[in-house]
Amino acid sequence: MSLKKQLEENIHELKDLPNFSSFSTSKKKKLKKLVEKHPMSITKYYSSLIDWNDPEDPLKKLVVPSLGELSVKGSYDTSGEKKSTVMPGLQHKYKQTALIIATNRCAVYCRFCFRKRMVGLSNKEVISRFEKAMEYIREHKEIKNILITGGDPLVLPTKVIENLLENLSGINHLDFVRFGTRIPVVMPERITKDSELLRLFEKYSRKDRRIYIVTHFNHPREITEKSIEAVDSLLKSGVIINNQTVLMKGVNDKPEILAELMNKLVKIGVSPYYVFQCRPVKRVKAHFQVPLKQGYEIIEKAKAKMSGHSKRFKYMMSHETGKIEILGIKNNEIYFKYHQARNPKNLGKFFKRKLTPTAGWLDDLDS
Ligand code: SF4
Repeated sequence: MSLKKQLEENIHELKDLPNFSSFSTSKKKKLKKLVEKHPMSITKYYSSLIDWNDPEDPLKKLVVPSLGELSVKGSYDTSGEKKSTVMPGLQHKYKQTALIIATNRCAVYCRFCFRKRMVGLSNKEVISRFEKAMEYIREHKEIKNILITGGDPLVLPTKVIENLLENLSGINHLDFVRFGTRIPVVMPERITKDSELLRLFEKYSRKDRRIYIVTHFNHPREITEKSIEAVDSLLKSGVIINNQTVLMKGVNDKPEILAELMNKLVKIGVSPYYVFQCRPVKRVKAHFQVPLKQGYEIIEKAKAKMSGHSKRFKYMMSHETGKIEILGIKNNEIYFKYHQARNPKNLGKFFKRKLTPTAGWLDDLDS
């Protein structure tokens, strides 16, 4: 079945949710309005992983709209993406890295997405002047790697992905290209059944310049026979796979869940790369964000259950000013370090804030 056809078969309408009949009339009305603002899309495969009879099912929380999303506390641009945009679809925040927003579409619309402002909605932020963007990357020799993201770039037709790779492979100052994608997690057949896509990765992930795939597994139940198959096919095509996870209330905010996730990822050949503090995004913050104090404690307890390989990730806050590592808590103070910084003067800067137990973001803390 074509990719387009598969995506059309997704669950887009509330009435098609297996548990729709259990919603009250008022809930149906509120969610209907919400879905008009932030669309829903769930693959048949991902739906099959959900326990629809469990009101607290963690996978359901990731993809099914809920009343928790009615809170609009927060911002739609928590990482300062507007400021980093050099032209539509091209961001350049850190010297060595440029980011291409290749699409506004995804195979599922994750309820926690930090690009909630655009996924499935506006394509104003998507790359439109492709040649101009390539020219910018060619001229900026300080750019050493490209992150292709969106939306989910692997929902694009394979031909479009080929065009991107072909163009980028001709830019000699690039060390590597990364794809940020949830496809191995939510639609593994896109990988296992598309030999053309795998052939592309084989061709462009060269021994002297690898392609990196950054997956987004958030819960150990997402590691299934099919997603393992997808990871295996990707590894055999010569790409390197890292994973980033968002720490989320009611999803993976238990040490044993996080530890199981990281240990299983390592077992299947995926390197844990970042655990992100959930950003204070509108319709996400109130629903999913775990306070920093609690988050740090969960992660430390989880690490006690992990091997060295499983705990290679950093606990990170992707802040407007840079990527800030959450290092530790002592005597009611929380310690941070700039891992990447918008202002190069901040790179490596080590600093602390007074700890407020409910604070979920740097801006919630007093110096
Ligand atoms: S797949 Fe990625 S970009 Fe798309 S909604 Fe999920 S988190 Fe956001």
